[in-house]
Amino acid sequence: MKALVFHKPSDVRIEDVPDPRIEEPTDVIVRVTATAICGSDLHIYNGFFPQAKPMVLGHEFMGVVEEVGPQVTKLRKGDRVVVPFPIACGRCFFCQAELPGHCESSNPKHYGPEGGTLEGKGGALFGYTDLYGGYNGGQAEYVRVPYADVGPRKVPERLTDEEVLFTTDILPTGWTAIEWAELKGGETVAVFGCGPVGLATMKCAWLRGAARVIGVDREEYRLTKAREIAKAETVNVDKVDAVEAIRAMTGGRGADVCVDAVGMEAHRGLLEKASSALHGQVGTISALRLALSAVRRGGVVPVVGVYGVPYDNFPLGQIFDKGLRLQAGQAPAHNYIDRILKHIEDGHLRADDIITHRLPLSRAPQGYEIFNKKLDDCVKVVLKP
Ligand code: NAD
Ligand code: ZN
Ligand code: ZN
Repeated sequence: MKALVFHKPSDVRIEDVPDPRIEEPTDVIVRVTATAICGSDLHIYNGFFPQAKPMVLGHEFMGVVEEVGPQVTKLRKGDRVVVPFPIACGRCFFCQAELPGHCESSNPKHYGPEGGTLEGKGGALFGYTDLYGGYNGGQAEYVRVPYADVGPRKVPERLTDEEVLFTTDILPTGWTAIEWAELKGGETVAVFGCGPVGLATMKCAWLRGAARVIGVDREEYRLTKAREIAKAETVNVDKVDAVEAIRAMTGGRGADVCVDAVGMEAHRGLLEKASSALHGQVGTISALRLALSAVRRGGVVPVVGVYGVPYDNFPLGQIFDKGLRLQAGQAPAHNYIDRILKHIEDGHLRADDIITHRLPLSRAPQGYEIFNKKLDDCVKVVLKP
């Protein structure tokens, strides 16, 4: 089959690779009909997560069940499914605790007390390096889906691929940020990052009762998108002091919730500059620092942007003084996917309006380049095998 194979940073290729097979009795094989490139894929593409062996990338995918392992009870050949990005067994301590991103069974090699360091990641996901389980991903014609009674959800025929594809990651991720914020209704939610995850977060914020949504980014075209499809007020972090601007918009107090939907992206570009500049600037422009400063006292900072290396100079004094609550990590997509699918079915939520590029799988390497360099006003690339 054809698949998008990561070789080394900035080097991804479409290649012929062996078709995936049923390896465990709980597996299914899915024929992929649509798959997307995620900001998280760019961390691998840009070398922030190491991967030595070639690997098929992609954790946002959907398709049709082609082959079913003998112990799978909920799916049959021909079922059309979306697949949440964490690979979770449904039975271990963490799965029972509704933390599918930390499943002990799916990534036994790297699970351990060191979880959180590059030596020991807990949990696994599709197409996300050997640290996260070494599973091939869904930017391919076919993909092996383990624990098929746990992750995949059947989707109604009347909904298109593009309408449901983002239930695999970015919608549950946006939902998670808002869940962590524990909105009661009437809050001001500032979202740092107006990429796919930030836009999805803004949509979920409205749905869960926010009174105001503020989008922050450095790319004017993405701020325009945030105004158009997520009804956000916007702040360009490169043009104004974002912290001052958000305080001015909120009676001097700051936003009730400041979401970091940027992650290591904030450091990209800087790495291309001189290393002295790197040391001077990482702290000052990093979205997380801005979020901690722009949130009001007693506020919440959900961190769904991905970080993969240790960070020193963490502003604990500021967090303590302001009495902040901070929660970070991978989204437990399994927990929210059904509710999100229902909202899409009922017409309360859509994310297909973030798609700017539709490419055949054969052009996936161009898709990576366009998305990474933000060419041609790119927000989200969907690949069709
Ligand atoms: P993206 O790279 O398209 O979006 C990031 C946005 O942040 C860009 O629009 C960029 O211009 C903006 N940005 C950069 N520096 C900024 C700054 N200092 N202040 C404000 N904005 C800034 O990626 P995406 O697909 O939207 O993903 C965003 C983040 O979410 C990534 O780190 C990704 O890995 C992560 N993610 C996490 C989960 C999870 O489960 N927690 C799931 C999916 C994605
Ligand atoms: Zn993703
Ligand atoms: Zn588990």
